[in-house]
Amino acid sequence: MARDSIVILGQVLAGIIGLNVALELAKRGYGQHITVIGRELPGDSNVDYTSPWAGANFSGISGTDPNALRWDRAGYLALMGLIERGAEEAKFLAKTESTEYWDEQPSAEKIKSVTEYLRDVKVTPEADLPGGVSFGLSFTTITLNAPAHCLHLKSLLSRPEYGSIKFERRAVNALEDAFLSPKTKIVFNCIGNAAKTMPGVQDAKCYPTRGQIVLAKAPAVKQNVMRHGKDYETYIIPRPLSDSTVILGGYLQKGDSDGRVREEESRSILRRTGELLPVLKQNDTRILKVAVGFRPSRETGARVEREEIQGRTVVHNYGAGGTGYQAGMGMAQDAVDLAQEVLGQLPVSKL
Ligand SMILES: Cc1cc2nc3c(=O)[nH]c(=O)nc-3n(C[C@H](O)[C@H](O)[C@H](O)COP(=O)(O)OP(=O)(O)OC[C@H]3O[C@@H](n4cnc5c(N)ncnc54)[C@H](O)[C@@H]3O)c2cc1C
Repeated sequence: MARDSIVILGQVLAGIIGLNVALELAKRGYGQHITVIGRELPGDSNVDYTSPWAGANFSGISGTDPNALRWDRAGYLALMGLIERGAEEAKFLAKTESTEYWDEQPSAEKIKSVTEYLRDVKVTPEADLPGGVSFGLSFTTITLNAPAHCLHLKSLLSRPEYGSIKFERRAVNALEDAFLSPKTKIVFNCIGNAAKTMPGVQDAKCYPTRGQIVLAKAPAVKQNVMRHGKDYETYIIPRPLSDSTVILGGYLQKGDSDGRVREEESRSILRRTGELLPVLKQNDTRILKVAVGFRPSRETGARVEREEIQGRTVVHNYGAGGTGYQAGMGMAQDAVDLAQEVLGQLPVSKL
């Protein structure tokens, strides 16, 4: 059976969405059939690919779209399962104490959904809420060292026990180019922001959501803290296995595709995060870098959908917005389930 029977378009070490699909396929025994193609290489500072710029953590950032709530849940439980089993995939993940505040009361549906599965969840008593906050939750979250996690998954997936998945640097001009040979049975389309312009996809619902972040060395920070405002988003995320790096944010700027760093935004991030977690104002906090990334957002939520195009099968998996790490494993489970009928024609070699 051909190595390129299954093609995953849209990552080389970069895209967490494609990596999760590759991992899910490998777990179900299809690793031997996969070629992953993508344009970027590790270490590239290209704002057009998002995954290295993420915090990353699990947070209550999603809305109330039922798919998003389901993928969040599946993603949290899958990531937690990896940590608790001591799985190799969990090397750059950590359980971390988290507090989140909402200036506007989240919907009852949202609270009900997350409190059903989050570990150690407690509603913050009203008397303990900071001024201007309507609702608070503390729980055990999952933090990820985003760039290291992507590199690590790529390295694991290249091993024989995962099917020696082939990674190929290649830019495609159109979706159909991802059908590398006549033997290609299926393409998983995980191209993030490029879904808006890529011929064969050109999804008008897609748009970037800009985020500026400050990476700092802050040994005193051990917990995750977030505040979701009406027109701002403030967060502090410690990065696991990173020599005390924390990600300070940030912004959720819908439709803004300006990749330049804005000095006034860095000042605002430092002010807001210092107010939220005063320990950050200690002398041992040092700024390492300021960066900008674009969350691949989509009106009506991410698209995880199968499509037959001229007799060929594509499974789309893009538009994760600000949740690619937290929801990605849930989205990958659905994407692979959608392909089951085609995958069923391929021989399986279980992990
Ligand atoms: C500042 C910031 C903070 C964030 N924090 C979090 C967080 O805490 N938790 C969380 O869950 N999420 C977070 N996110 C969101 C998360 O990073 C994204 O949801 C996720 O990275 C999207 O992954 P992706 O694989 O869809 O896209 P990408 O990482 O952009 O991957 C797309 C891939 O497609 C490839 N590609 C594109 N065009 C072509 C082409 N023509 N040919 C070949 N390949 C192509 C690119 O090379 C790239 O590798 C954050 C994002 C930002 C910007």
